[in-house]
Amino acid sequence: MNNVDHIGIAVSSLEEALLLYTKQLGMTHIKTERVASQGVNVAFIDAGNIKLELLEPASPDSSIARFIQKRGPGIHHIAYSVKDIETRIAEVKSQGIETIGDVPVQGAGGARIAFMHPRSTGGVLMELCDKGEGEA
Ligand code: ZN
Repeated sequence: MNNVDHIGIAVSSLEEALLLYTKQLGMTHIKTERVASQGVNVAFIDAGNIKLELLEPASPDSSIARFIQKRGPGIHHIAYSVKDIETRIAEVKSQGIETIGDVPVQGAGGARIAFMHPRSTGGVLMELCDKGEGEA
């Protein structure tokens, strides 16, 4: 893992967050999509050398909804770009790092993703993000 793909940010309202990032801060909105597996609506923002992934709960029982309820909106996770995610999952587990689930799930943009538990990673929720071949 050596490239940060994006930073995930929990927001209560995508509409308000998009106003902040695009109108007030002048960044570019790339796209918005619904990621059913995670119970979120996701908007990607082009922040130059990195993307921001704005995460709005799509249902009150999604993990993002619980996160906002507990801690308020804010930085949620850091996503590292990986290839061959199954191997990466096995590698981090062999290093004693706890993952959330053993197999990748479908993330935004068709990426396959997996999370490492913050218990194992110094309080930071980390995502492995495998976009396969093609898009960098
Ligand atoms: Zn993410």
